[in-house]
Amino acid sequence: MKNVIEDVACASCCCVCDDARVTTDGQQITEVQTTCPQGQAWFDWSPQSALLQPSIRGTAVSHTEAIQRAAELIQQAQSPLIYGMYQSATDAQRAAISLADQIGATIDTGAASATRALQQAGEASCTLGEVRSRADLIIYWGADAFRSTECHRNNMNQGESVSSRKIVTISGEKTDDSDNVDQSIVLAPGNELELIWCLRALLKDIDLEQNAASGLSTTDLQSLVSLIRQSKYIVFFFGPEFKQGPFAHHNIEALSLLVREIQAERRCHTLNIPGVGETRGAETVLAWQTGYAASVNFAAGYPRYSPREYSANQMLEQTETDLCILVGAQPLSGLSELALERLAEIPVILTGPAVQEQLETEAFLPTGISGIHFPGVIYRLDGTPIPLRGYLPTDLPSEADVLNEISAQLKRA
Ligand code: SF4
Repeated sequence: MKNVIEDVACASCCCVCDDARVTTDGQQITEVQTTCPQGQAWFDWSPQSALLQPSIRGTAVSHTEAIQRAAELIQQAQSPLIYGMYQSATDAQRAAISLADQIGATIDTGAASATRALQQAGEASCTLGEVRSRADLIIYWGADAFRSTECHRNNMNQGESVSSRKIVTISGEKTDDSDNVDQSIVLAPGNELELIWCLRALLKDIDLEQNAASGLSTTDLQSLVSLIRQSKYIVFFFGPEFKQGPFAHHNIEALSLLVREIQAERRCHTLNIPGVGETRGAETVLAWQTGYAASVNFAAGYPRYSPREYSANQMLEQTETDLCILVGAQPLSGLSELALERLAEIPVILTGPAVQEQLETEAFLPTGISGIHFPGVIYRLDGTPIPLRGYLPTDLPSEADVLNEISAQLKRA
């Protein structure tokens, strides 16, 4: 029976657009109306996920056997690691944290640098709705890919402040549509801190020497400072390019300081655009469950936080873990090359709606997709929880079901 569902949320990326129109025949999606190719691909994935089967070392087994094998592996492990949760709904994130607590594991979300900085310096943030309605200056820093998505452009091209709004981009290279913005700044990677410090000085009327921020003329800097001074509500979108390198958290801390100073005279907020593998939401769930937003270890029987010691990359690179439990659709993104090499040397349990071809898994437990097969809640990039609907039937369990079943199996053993 044909069923048309309006305003369906897409959970493929951190934008969580909730305006897709989905038509189903009761069993499958027959048509999706969305403006985004990535979103289209996400909706198209559901038939493939339905074909997935539980397996042990690549051999198809029953769901019960795979659960039992996963529980055995956890019982044998000394230092398990739980990682991923990108695109997972909050019930799966809660189940993953609960399992980590039960088995004394380390759990990491892949958003370590941002959460580390924001725990130090705080975050002045807002919703996308506020940006759309009120911002008269938007600065995209290392977020060109996000700025050019059709969904974001359509979203921002609404509201009363569109006509008077100024746009500034700061990125490592000149982009195709640099001419369409009010100021385009090309900044060599690694100079973010220097630029922030120059802006802080100029906003306090402290004179700078010529070319104070590598490659940037004082005229460019003064022009940006003038735009900031002329504006009432400024929003910085900072993206993956801004957060590159081992000291990314220092860039985010410095930006928070700049925002705090600008706020003395006008409204100013930041919005973090997650990069590939960076979750948005898992860190919120982790923070409300444990008090820490990333890199949490339960080995002592209570949560301990140490971003250097307990980040997934660090745990894998230093061979500090002997079992990895990967959760979600893209659980390998965000891992370094060395971490991936080390991952191939230890047993892996994977639960999610997709196989990872490049990785041999000891136990694979396929799931349906939250937002297609299961209802739930997922966090948008601005921290707004968006409800997901489940409108297609599936024989597969949800990620939360699998994690809770493993937990129950361990309690029975
Ligand atoms: S931009 Fe919107 S429609 Fe496209 S993948 Fe992201 S959430 Fe889905």
